[in-house]
Amino acid sequence: MLDVRGLKKVYEGPGRRVEAVRDLTFTVAAGELVCLVGPSGCGKTTLLKCVGGLLEPTAGEVFLAGRRVAGPPPGMAFVFQEYGRSLFPWMRVGANVELPLRQKGLGRARRGELVADALASVGLADAAGAYPWQLSGGMQQRVAIARALAYEPEVLLMDEPFAAVDAQTRADLEDLVRALWRERGITVLFVTHDIDEAVYLGQRVIVLSASPTVVQEQLRVDLPDGRDQVHTRVAPRFAELRTRVYEQIQAAKRSAAGAPLKEPRRADAPPPH
Ligand code: ADP
Ligand code: MG
Repeated sequence: MLDVRGLKKVYEGPGRRVEAVRDLTFTVAAGELVCLVGPSGCGKTTLLKCVGGLLEPTAGEVFLAGRRVAGPPPGMAFVFQEYGRSLFPWMRVGANVELPLRQKGLGRARRGELVADALASVGLADAAGAYPWQLSGGMQQRVAIARALAYEPEVLLMDEPFAAVDAQTRADLEDLVRALWRERGITVLFVTHDIDEAVYLGQRVIVLSASPTVVQEQLRVDLPDGRDQVHTRVAPRFAELRTRVYEQIQAAKRSAAGAPLKEPRRADAPPPH
């Protein structure tokens, strides 16, 4: 469904050059839930924006169902980290969720159905008439998820969507994402810096190195599909998988930190220890 090939992104400005993503290649199958995990600043948001057609890659390509992505493709929806800024404060919740459907050119009745269905799916059937700022952070993020669902995407891109909510809400929202994914058969690419979250949610975890970013490792999460916060997180296999991901990220950091040592040493420099 998603095919990312040799993706590279360099931000260039006056006197400034940041190589955010060096070379990323991976695929996501139709209906798969894949988590991308990597340290802050490693280029996760950059990568997702390139995948979503919001940013032009410097090199490499992204294909959605065999078609090259150049600009936001119709079958994709995005849930951003900053829900506070992703909803329009002057529009009621229902209108926020409906907005992309208007752009899709759907009739009024169908839009109404999709909005009601999406809000019910995230447990906010009664919130359509509220303004976003009247809701808690977790509820606002549910609205953002509902807006993405109402759009009926084939692929859902999520960028650290729960980083700013409290732990209990976060656990609930994680379970919501898994439930929606299982019910609706959407392909999900979920980005997080949280190792436990990646292992808990994903069928597969792609570990990214520190910037400049490459794929460090890919790991199949062989935990049962029916996961729950209480039992899954204390399962021995969960602990093994999270340790494995943690070690990979540490290894990536060490190789990044160790890189300057490869430069020739000055004759008067102290010996390496
Ligand atoms: P992450 O989401 O993993 O925290 P980002 O993709 O946001 O990482 O950023 C990766 C790197 O690219 C960082 O060094 C960041 O400062 C830089 N960066 C991100 N956006 C821009 C931009 N618009 N212009 C210049 N540099 C940017
Ligand atoms: Mg980010």
